Amino acid sequence: MTASFVAATFLNSLWESTVFAALAAALLGVLRPRSAAVRHRVWTVVLLKFAVPTEVLFALLQPVELVLRQVMEVPVVVRPALAAAARALVLVDPATAMPATWLGAGVALWLGGAMLTVFPTAIGLRRLAREMAGASDDAPARETRVLARAVRLTGCARPVRVHVSSTAATVMVAGWRRPVVVIPAPIAAALSDGELTAVLVHELTHVRRGDTAVSLATMVAVAVCWMHPAVWWLSRVVEREGEFACDDAAMATGESRDDFSRGLAKVVQAGFAGAPLGLSRAGAGDIAQRLHRIVTGRADRDGAWTSAAASAMLVVLLVALTAVANPCLR
Ligand SMILES: [Zn+2]
Repeated sequence: MTASFVAATFLNSLWESTVFAALAAALLGVLRPRSAAVRHRVWTVVLLKFAVPTEVLFALLQPVELVLRQVMEVPVVVRPALAAAARALVLVDPATAMPATWLGAGVALWLGGAMLTVFPTAIGLRRLAREMAGASDDAPARETRVLARAVRLTGCARPVRVHVSSTAATVMVAGWRRPVVVIPAPIAAALSDGELTAVLVHELTHVRRGDTAVSLATMVAVAVCWMHPAVWWLSRVVEREGEFACDDAAMATGESRDDFSRGLAKVVQAGFAGAPLGLSRAGAGDIAQRLHRIVTGRADRDGAWTSAAASAMLVVLLVALTAVANPCLR
């Protein structure tokens, strides 16, 4: 396998992922799901497709390839159409030999960009890990009591701890296997019990949904495909829809909307810009829109049919695109 082949495969995978993103946008345009959770799921899959090379999906879809090979044996009208679609998905012919200087410069640029996107997160995580390693084992009494109430409200089954931080810039969930809700000390001091409950219910919903893993996957996708503008746009949309989905689930617990809006406003006021990628954040996203949704109680939901249809159609689109991108069709 040559460096030229790998570079061409990467560029083709980026192009195929772009086509998949356009198809997913069309799917959402047709289904028009009202629920943020459904939109979050769709855009997360689209973003992850950017990070997963189509070659990996080929390996998972061997039975589909066998069927396609049978179809291509038969000279029917679909054969030229499939071949034309397969060729349209090729941006760079993997057989093309790229100049070594271009490849070297391209790899150096890609590595530099990837490191720059990961760097702020790595620094933030390291600082937080150091602080938590040096912290006393005694859990803060008031925050732990309010956390227990928030756990009852959300039904979060995973063991979660709370940590009041002197260095974190905003409320966040850190850790995947043993999640910890981190609250900056000034924010904890500013929140009433009701507001703190609302903020913790939102964070526990992140834990229940596995949003920290999604955030880390988002970070990997952005680091690998940082040169593609759609990836940055998708990471922002995934984050925003994730925040909306957690607000919706939190409001469904029946807690006071006033506590939610005031709690969120205080979190934002204390500064939300410092939270790095790769962590579930309370302050990020479109704050004005979040406050408006909370104040008006606009937690739109879909029927089970729309949610199932969006998932099923997305899988069909992904399988179809991967199948058509297969070299056996060209
Ligand atoms: Zn959040």
